[in-house]
Amino acid sequence: MPELTGRVLYPGDPGWDDARRGFAIWADFDANQPKVIVFCQCAADASNAVRWATANSVPIRIRCGRHNYQGYSSLAKDGIIIDVSEMDSVQVNRNSLVATVGAGLDMLQFYEALGESGFAVPGATGPSVGLAGLTLGSGFGPTSRKWGLTCDHLVDVEIVDANGDIIHANEQTNPDLFWACKGGGGGNFGVVTAFTFRVNPVGNVAVFSLGWEYDQLYPVAEAWMNWAPVVEDSMTASLMMLANNPKNAAMLTSSARPITLYGQFTPDSDQDLTRLSTVLGPMLATGPTSVQIQVLPYLIATRVLLGVDPSSPTWRLVTHSDTEVFKSTSSFAYQLFDADTLKIVKKHLDDVPTLSGPPTEPSMIQFLPGGGLPSRIDPQATAAYPRKAKFVVQYNAYWNAPEDGAKNIAWIEGFRNALLPYTKGAYVNYNDSTLTNYLEDYYGPNLPRLVAVKKQYDPNNVFNFQQSIPTSL
Ligand SMILES: Cc1cc2nc3c(=O)[nH]c(=O)nc-3n(C[C@H](O)[C@H](O)[C@H](O)COP(=O)(O)OP(=O)(O)OC[C@H]3O[C@@H](n4cnc5c(N)ncnc54)[C@H](O)[C@@H]3O)c2cc1C
Repeated sequence: MPELTGRVLYPGDPGWDDARRGFAIWADFDANQPKVIVFCQCAADASNAVRWATANSVPIRIRCGRHNYQGYSSLAKDGIIIDVSEMDSVQVNRNSLVATVGAGLDMLQFYEALGESGFAVPGATGPSVGLAGLTLGSGFGPTSRKWGLTCDHLVDVEIVDANGDIIHANEQTNPDLFWACKGGGGGNFGVVTAFTFRVNPVGNVAVFSLGWEYDQLYPVAEAWMNWAPVVEDSMTASLMMLANNPKNAAMLTSSARPITLYGQFTPDSDQDLTRLSTVLGPMLATGPTSVQIQVLPYLIATRVLLGVDPSSPTWRLVTHSDTEVFKSTSSFAYQLFDADTLKIVKKHLDDVPTLSGPPTEPSMIQFLPGGGLPSRIDPQATAAYPRKAKFVVQYNAYWNAPEDGAKNIAWIEGFRNALLPYTKGAYVNYNDSTLTNYLEDYYGPNLPRLVAVKKQYDPNNVFNFQQSIPTSL
């Protein structure tokens, strides 16, 4: 009988309660306690865990940064959680411009480790988001229009398969599995223990935040749609529109506005940084009431974006608390919204439910830009298909008091449904338990090939969870 190795925790052990919870603090972690959690220190620990679980018919959950929106990586009644978060090695090869990293890094560790060597790979805007979940679900961030999705940078994946074997997937070896690891979503094919990424040299960049009052929503959203998805690749700028709620307004800091454009300009040379105001021109022309721009070394700029202490700059772009009561969902816009569709957006932002107390963050809708390099890659070249979308729509509801939950969830579902005539699909990394056609939404035309890869590498469906890829359709 295989033995569990690594840092193995059982119920009642010191640290058990922290070890079994995830980012989505509203999820029912008590009713879904695992029987054991293995914090892997090396690939062999993951291999032993998979072999132990199959020998004992114990359900498996795989975990890295715990940021799954539905908590799926931590909800494992009587199961085993195979956690890679302590596998955080980093080796950068400056000559071949690749980095091999443990699969357990979080974004802050990832950016810092590569940034110290002068390199970058596009990642997420949340400092504690896990690298494994992000990459396997594709991953986009402030430099992805320029360099591609996180998964587009993969050169090799070390993965423990359903037999417990440690294998590699790359263009030459297990190429179908490699294809599936590039956007097919975490938890489906095995336990990834290491990634090798192509890295991009990076120098100084500009980060910015432009703000408008709520009554400017129509002209600003229209200007953004006609600009952000088609502007030069060096620019990635997202538009955040807060729900029109007095409690949201009360949460804003003095420099923040209900409508915010935030992002990063990452040109090839310092000389090109001087073009920023020209590149931002169409948005500046709409008359923002607040404008903050800073040119910074990439690593410092990234800290500003992640909302962690950047040492010198005085403002932060994106802040996420580490545990939240929220409901998020998404869809992809393949056409720009016309005036009537924007009215639907505003109506739902106006109709946000009244809360009995302040939320953890203001509820909002965000437009995240498509276009750039990812859009020039064939949607079927990797498992990440929605490359031709003009933008991603992310719908986020936040609250704190339990009695506010149902109405906020209904609001966010109603919001997404109202825009479905103009959008389609959903981002697998913003997974949503209420989607009825989640496989089609997450995987589009790539679903049949993903199912075939699943059948080949995990015919007994060892790696399954609430929204995993099945072995047949
Ligand atoms: C605050 C916040 C900010 C975010 N910002 C962005 C953003 O800017 N861009 C973006 O693209 N996404 C963003 N996301 C979404 C994020 O990409 C997903 O939540 C992602 O799945 C998180 O990965 P994780 O490792 O932290 O989560 P986990 O919950 O640990 O895992 C997520 C999924 O991957 C699986 N998994 C984890 N580790 C492994 C492994 N080693 N091998 C195989 N499967 C594994 C899990 O089983 C689960 O299905 C954000 C999410 C949050 C909460």
